[in-house]
Amino acid sequence: MELSDRVTLVTGSGRGIGRAIALKLAEAGATVVINDVGATDAVNGVIEEIKAMNRQSLGILADVSSSADVDKMVATAIATYGRIDILVNNAGITRDQLVLRMSDEDWDKVININLKSVFLCTRAVLRYMIRQRWGRIISIASIVGIVGNAGQANYASAKAGIIGFTRSIAKEVGSRSITANAIAPGFIDTQMTQKLAEQQRQELQKRIPLGDFGTPRDVAEAVAFLASDGARYISGHVLNVDGGMGGV
Ligand code: NAP
Repeated sequence: MELSDRVTLVTGSGRGIGRAIALKLAEAGATVVINDVGATDAVNGVIEEIKAMNRQSLGILADVSSSADVDKMVATAIATYGRIDILVNNAGITRDQLVLRMSDEDWDKVININLKSVFLCTRAVLRYMIRQRWGRIISIASIVGIVGNAGQANYASAKAGIIGFTRSIAKEVGSRSITANAIAPGFIDTQMTQKLAEQQRQELQKRIPLGDFGTPRDVAEAVAFLASDGARYISGHVLNVDGGMGGV
């Protein structure tokens, strides 16, 4: 996999899956813009690791649910590197609650940070990708967006929305050699899933044919493939990375 000369932006890449994606893309040769909302130390740590690989990297703190922040972030990346070839929409949060008890705030926050952000970041980079006549939009959805999950109606709606958005974008910009794909991870070992109670974790593990939670690296490998020239004819696709759990 060869991504030399490619400039990538990975949202929410200070830790977890985003961090693993940033490191994998850098390993493949890419220049990587790291984004996080407030974790300066985490961002600096990822940048140091990338620079140790002799790749270029820049950190930008921005809230991906804010239109002004996103436009400023993309303008800074363009001013620094002159282009963005690959956007990975990864930033996301959960605020779990049964629907009857879910607050307006928890609904709006999850929809804005998981779904509106994908629209804002994609719109901002497409202006440049269309001129370049090359681009890759890769968005991290979830199998929960395909099969649903009790207690996660807000999150599942946002992730299902990402899939509809991705398929629409693939149709809008395919003629410019821009692909749009989503990845639907199952349960991956990160701070997001470390919130689960041990018993819940064991129950979930029984439903995973490959027997265990995935690693952030498992998701990063799939992103690197979709970003590569080898995936040039794949667009509007949802790739499950779920140990065989079977999002439909
Ligand atoms: P995580 O460990 O909680 O990391 C989330 C990252 O997103 C953090 O770096 C966080 O930054 C950043 N972030 C949160 N709000 C943001 C905002 N408003 N603007 C910019 N960045 C923001 O989560 P993860 O498990 O790596 O999840 C990454 C993605 O994979 C998410 O979209 C998640 O829904 C999806 N996913 C995860 C799993 C799983 O099992 N873990 C399964 C399916 C899908 P701070 O550190 O500053 O808060």
